[in-house]
Amino acid sequence: MNDCPFCRIVARQTPADIVYEDEAVLAFKDIYPKAPVHLLIVPKRHIASLMETAEADVDTLGRCVLAARRLAEASGYAEKGFRLSVNTGPEGGQVVYHVHFHFTAGRRPRVDA
Ligand code: AMP
Ligand code: ZN
Repeated sequence: MNDCPFCRIVARQTPADIVYEDEAVLAFKDIYPKAPVHLLIVPKRHIASLMETAEADVDTLGRCVLAARRLAEASGYAEKGFRLSVNTGPEGGQVVYHVHFHFTAGRRPRVDA
């Protein structure tokens, strides 16, 4: 567990710019933002990837999505819109193997993206 960077953030062993927390979810600013607003929403409980999820994780994952809605409201992007994405596996671009939702906003997606 200790060698997971996001578990370390959840345990406050690594500093992060935390923007939201509830009993199941933590959200913090991405250290290398790729959009004007770039947050990461993670379940507090370690789940390595979407491919490791099970029925028991449904509530936690739903809470991550609800956190995205709250962050959109809090950051002023509820109406303008935002993107929520989960990179999964090597060809999906996943680097950190603790499920995380990228919340990006503030820039229109490329039309050919
Ligand atoms: P992914 O490629 O989907 O696994 O994304 C991992 C993301 O985590 C990248 O956007 C990184 O910039 C971000 N990241 C890695 N370490 C940290 C950290 N300590 N604090 C905040 N963001 C991080
Ligand atoms: Zn973890």
